[in-house]
Amino acid sequence: MNHCLECGDEIPYGGRKDRKFCSQTCRNQYHNDRRSYDRIVHQRVDVALQKNYRILQHLLGMGLTQAGNDELFLLGFRRDYKTSCTVVNHRMESRCYEISYKESETRIYDIKRIPAEFLFAEGTPPGQYPYK
Ligand SMILES: [Zn+2]
Repeated sequence: MNHCLECGDEIPYGGRKDRKFCSQTCRNQYHNDRRSYDRIVHQRVDVALQKNYRILQHLLGMGLTQAGNDELFLLGFRRDYKTSCTVVNHRMESRCYEISYKESETRIYDIKRIPAEFLFAEGTPPGQYPYK
């Protein structure tokens, strides 16, 4: 006898053998919960990315191209959130949307904006785009 993934009750015999839910109500509840969990996770990642982006914009706006760990921590920068990372000239380049930066243990540096025309250019080899 299988048990319902939502309420844990035994699933009555009848219908398909591989039923996972005892009722349509339990099936709907399970999938709604799953969707809202996914939404919460996505929202948290989005918030972290947008905060990082604002911090990078802020640094560039002040004419800075680097920031140390202490400053990043105070600003709330999360190094574990980025939109992509790629190897450019043997160095790992991280990106938060169209702003790129490199990382060492103690700081991020070489913060730059990638020109929009190179962001979505397919076939542009990494590191081949000219920075502004
Ligand atoms: Zn159930």
